Amino acid sequence: MIPEIDIAVLSAKKIYEGSLSFDFDAEAGLLDLPFAEFASPVHAELSYRILEEGAVEVKGTIVYTLRGECSRCREYAENVIEGEVDGLFETPKGDGETYGYVRTVRLGELLRDALLFSLPSRLICTACESEERGSV
Ligand SMILES: [Zn+2]
Repeated sequence: MIPEIDIAVLSAKKIYEGSLSFDFDAEAGLLDLPFAEFASPVHAELSYRILEEGAVEVKGTIVYTLRGECSRCREYAENVIEGEVDGLFETPKGDGETYGYVRTVRLGELLRDALLFSLPSRLICTACESEERGSV
């Protein structure tokens, strides 16, 4: 499950930063690689900071495993993918480059964007990977 950050409660407690560690299931539809699927939930390690004027900065990483056919030789391949998470939430509304929130920061859209951005254009098996490395 994707946690929410209750900024109103945190501010009242004078807590202005923290970290989150959680897993969530990726929407299978995000993946447009043929013959590939998410082999694991996405693991997120995030830290957040409440800035002046209520803006909230969220940064961290996501890690997940994709499995399917190697794009080169069609053998089974499993790749661990890492992505970067970096977003700014503003209240009540973002300007298009930032995300909006009211009282509670919901991370779903940011994580979806980070995931989309991190998706590789292909899967590659270990044999092909070392072959490609060897030929460089
Ligand atoms: Zn291969």
